[in-house]
Amino acid sequence: MYKSKKNKYNRILLKISGEFLKSSNESGINFLFLKNLISQIKLLVKLGIQVGLVVGGGNLFRGSDLEKIGMRRAVSDQIGMLSTVINALSIYEIMKRMNCQSRIFSSTTIGGICEKYRLDDVNQALENNCVVLFCFGLGVPFFTTDSSACVHGIAIKADIFLKGTKVDGVYSSDPNINESATIYHQLKYKDLINKELNVMDYTSLILASQHKLPILVFNMSNPKILYEILLESRQVGTLITE
Ligand code: UDP
Repeated sequence: MYKSKKNKYNRILLKISGEFLKSSNESGINFLFLKNLISQIKLLVKLGIQVGLVVGGGNLFRGSDLEKIGMRRAVSDQIGMLSTVINALSIYEIMKRMNCQSRIFSSTTIGGICEKYRLDDVNQALENNCVVLFCFGLGVPFFTTDSSACVHGIAIKADIFLKGTKVDGVYSSDPNINESATIYHQLKYKDLINKELNVMDYTSLILASQHKLPILVFNMSNPKILYEILLESRQVGTLITE
């Protein structure tokens, strides 16, 4: 764990599904969601919390969807990963406008857009209260941004992996289909695997479990959720530990 000072969690890895950036307006980007997200992050940073952020690309392209229309999976996944670069750049731009310092790191060099990942540079940025935006996933196909969030969370020794979703946490079955589904407030990594709860891919889960990276699955639609989790220490969502 990153050395704690005053907050419960001092260094976080936040992952947000690209779905949250989806918008029906002409720009194609949900500016209101991002504005709120960045306002929350700004305050957290001000209070000494270091933030690494992984944003998915599902609002633009997912490899599995492109594969269904006949594209090769490896190429489809590259398109998916490029979507995360577009999202990171949009966030960077809005952060700049809102005076929230950030840097974009990627596993691949895209000149003028993102810096090449180097752990020391990432740590230095975090220590300088700069939000680190990780994009282009792990740079290889057949993975998801959940996997890259776990890898980056482990590498930066994040205190927790915050997985922002559209549901309140992990349920016994899909709450949109089964009205009697109940939420779990706490789970072990192995429960998720044994109960076949479809929250994130097994690769990410196994990685998190091997490196004891706690995961909190929570509803990112609540506009004050990061404050509730990080500043008010509220028990929300589902906490997954060993
Ligand atoms: N992807 C990949 N390798 C990675 C991370 C992501 O190939 O290491 C691709 C994959 O095609 C994925 C897409 O990038 O569908 C977008 O990521 P993801 O589906 O995780 O986004 P989200 O659903 O969280 O918005």
